[in-house]
Amino acid sequence: MNLRPEEIGSILKQQIEKYQSQIEVSDVGTVIYIGDGIARVYGLEECMANELLEFPGGTLGMALNLEEDNIGCVLMGPYSHIQEGDTVKRTGRIISVPVGNSLLGRVVNPLGQPIDGEGPINTDKMRPVERIAPGVIERQPVAEPLQTGLKAVDSMIPIGRGQRELILGDRQTGKTAVGVDAIINQKKSGDVICIYVAVGQKQSTVAGVVQKLKDEGALDYSIIVSATASDPAPMQYVAPFAGAAIGEEFMEQGKHVLIVYDDLSKQANAYRELSLLLRRPPGREAYPGDIFNLHSRLLERACKLNDERGAGSMTALPIIETQAGDVSAYIPTNVISITDGQIYLEPELFYAGQRPAINVGISVSRVGGSAQIKAMKQVAGSLRLDLAQYRELQAFAQFGADLDKNTQSRLTRGERLMELLKQGQYVPMSVQDQVASMFAGNQGFMDDLPVEKVTEFEQGWLKYLRNKKPELLDAIVEKGKLDDDLMGKLKTACKEYKESFIS
Ligand code: ATP
Ligand code: MG
Repeated sequence: MNLRPEEIGSILKQQIEKYQSQIEVSDVGTVIYIGDGIARVYGLEECMANELLEFPGGTLGMALNLEEDNIGCVLMGPYSHIQEGDTVKRTGRIISVPVGNSLLGRVVNPLGQPIDGEGPINTDKMRPVERIAPGVIERQPVAEPLQTGLKAVDSMIPIGRGQRELILGDRQTGKTAVGVDAIINQKKSGDVICIYVAVGQKQSTVAGVVQKLKDEGALDYSIIVSATASDPAPMQYVAPFAGAAIGEEFMEQGKHVLIVYDDLSKQANAYRELSLLLRRPPGREAYPGDIFNLHSRLLERACKLNDERGAGSMTALPIIETQAGDVSAYIPTNVISITDGQIYLEPELFYAGQRPAINVGISVSRVGGSAQIKAMKQVAGSLRLDLAQYRELQAFAQFGADLDKNTQSRLTRGERLMELLKQGQYVPMSVQDQVASMFAGNQGFMDDLPVEKVTEFEQGWLKYLRNKKPELLDAIVEKGKLDDDLMGKLKTACKEYKESFIS
C-alpha cells in the first residue's frame, strides 16, 4: 500500500476521531495504523522519545516520532498479528540494555537478550542505549597504544586508547579481518574488553566470527552484539548504540574497551529505511537529514576519560563499506570527518596478494603518534619514507627504463618492505616481534634476498630471537626504545642469523 502523505494524514484524522471517545488513560494508546514495520499510535500523551511500547503478543516498539496527535513507532519484532484498534501500553522505559561483567563471553541482541542459548544474563543493571558523550573537560589526550597486532597498522597507522579509527573499503577486502585480529590481539595485554557489534550481516558470518573468537581464546573478554540482516531495521539501527552503552559501563569503571562496529553503512541503511517509513523527509541519497548526527553522536562516545573520572577508555573501530572504491560518497565522507583517521583497504592490493590490503599512502591516524612506543617510532619513521619513495619510483620502473643504482636500490628496498608488511589472518604479532622484524627490513638485511624469501626469512629471524636471544626481545619492551647498545646487538644477531639462513 503506497499512500501519499496527505492521504495518510486524512486516514489518521479519521482514525483518531474514531478512537478518541474510547480512550481516557494516558498510559494506554490505540493502534490507528500498522504496516511496513511501523505503527501509528493514538493516545500515550506522556510518551517519551525512544521509549519502549508494548504491543499485543509482547512485541516491542520504539517511539521515534512524537507528533501532535499521534506517535510514530517502529516495531522490533513480529507484527503480522497486530491490528488497527489494538491497545498499546507504555513501559515507561527508554530503550536500554543490561550491562556489566555477566555479559562477557556472551552473544546478545540489541535489547541485551541472549541469543547464544547459554541461558539468561544475570545482571540487574541497565543503561539507556543513548547517552550524551562525555564533554571536553572530562577527557584527556590519547597517549597509550592500542596494539592491533598488525604490522602495517601498528607501525604506520598507530591507534591509541580512546581513539576512533575508521576501517573502510569495498566488500571482501578484509575489513572484518582487521577488527577481529585487533580483538584477538588484546589477549596479550589482558586489560582490554572487546565488543564486536555485527549489523546487517549474515547469521553465518557472525557465527563464524564468534567461533573464531572462541577458538582463539578471545571470547572470555569479548561481548558480541548482533542484529543480522534478517532482523528488523530498528534492531540494526539500535545495535551500535547498545554496544556503546555496554562499553561505557566498563569505561566508567576505569577499564579499557575496544569496540568494533561492523558495519555502519548497514546501520545507515536501516536508519534510512525506518525514517522513510516514518515519512521523515529524505535528503541526499535519500538518507534523512540527521544521518551525520546519528554517526557523530555514536562515535563521540568513544574517548579517553580524565583521571578524576577513572581514566578508562573506549576505542572505536567503525567499519564502512564503500562502493567501487568511492570514498567520496555521502556516508564514507561523513564518517571520515568524524573519526580520527582511516585505514583504507583496496581490492587491487587484496587481489595482488598484499594482505592486509592496506593502502599505506592514504591511510592515516591523526592522534595515534603519541601513543606509540619509541622503539616502534624509530623503525616506522624510515618505513613510511621508504615506502613513499618506492611508490613514486614504481611508476617509472614499469616502463623498463634503465635505472641508476640509487633508484634500483630504493625499488629493491620498497619491494621487500611491502612483502614484509604482509601478514596472515588470526596471527597478530606482539610489539617486540614487530619491531624486530621491521628492524631487519629497515637495516637492509633482506635487500639481497629474493622477494619470495622475505616471509621465510622473517619467520626464521623471529624464531631465532625467541630461541637464542630472548633477552633482546625483552629489552625492546623494557627499554621501550632502541638505544645504540641494543641496536648494535640486534645488528650482530641479525648478521649471525642471516649467515645461517643463507647456508
Ligand atoms: P565483507 O564486505 O563481506 O564484510 P570484509 O571486507 O569484511 O568482507 P573479510 O570477511 O574480513 O572481508 O575478508 C574477506 C576474505 O579475505 C576472507 O575470506 C578472509 O579469510 C580473507 N582475508 C582477510 N584478511 C586476510 C589476510 N590478512 N590474509 C589472508 N586472507 C585474508
Ligand atoms: Mg565484513
